[in-house]
Amino acid sequence: MSHRFILEESKQELLASLERRGIEQRVLNAIAQVPRERFVPPALLYRAYEDTSLPIGHGQTISQPYTVAYMTQLLNVEPGHRVLEVGTGSGYQTAILCALGATVWSIERIGELSQQARRVLNSIGYSPTLIVGDGWEGYPQAAPFDRIIVTAAAPEIPMQLARQLAVGGILVVPVGQNDQHMYQLRRVSENEFDVFSSAQRFRFVPFIRAGHDEAASTPRAGN
Ligand code: SAH
Repeated sequence: MSHRFILEESKQELLASLERRGIEQRVLNAIAQVPRERFVPPALLYRAYEDTSLPIGHGQTISQPYTVAYMTQLLNVEPGHRVLEVGTGSGYQTAILCALGATVWSIERIGELSQQARRVLNSIGYSPTLIVGDGWEGYPQAAPFDRIIVTAAAPEIPMQLARQLAVGGILVVPVGQNDQHMYQLRRVSENEFDVFSSAQRFRFVPFIRAGHDEAASTPRAGN
């Protein structure tokens, strides 16, 4: 198909620009492997390799490629790691984690997004454990995790998730109200965490706490 060539070309441009912005080769390889065009709505297919977030329905977005790359780099995933993702969304970040050889659990509160993500992930050969539910409290059933990534904006560092890390484990989460700094927590012992926060700012959809924020985030009829 004629658009295939155009996409390949824009994917190469995207990879080159991510490399210029300091993304390491291992992460670039994972991004090169995963067809982002499969995770965006068909009408936006031609924009799959623009370095921008795109709407995926239900008021949610597939994150910008640079943001996915930057978070993945901070997460420092190794093959065989047990990784929890909170906020499956389109499943694109999930696929990147699978491409890096992780065993992935991913939680999404919106059932239809999770089901769509499952279809796409399975069709490209990945089979992470996808869970529909509230990820605010993590996923204690499968804890501890080597890595935890939150792909929605948390109001503060989610310590309830950090406690589900194995010692030596890393949590990456955007924290802030209107825009977010990226936080990387490393659990150095049972009771000690090292924390890094990025100077760069990001803009995520909110990390919703079931029973607390839901009313506020539900679009009202007539709007
Ligand atoms: N990594 C995804 C990001 C999607 S946006 C992608 O690139 O496609 C963030 C997602 O987090 C949304 O789909 C939203 O529904 C979900 N989310 C927000 N709060 C949540 C919660 N408490 N539990 C599970 N998922 C949540």
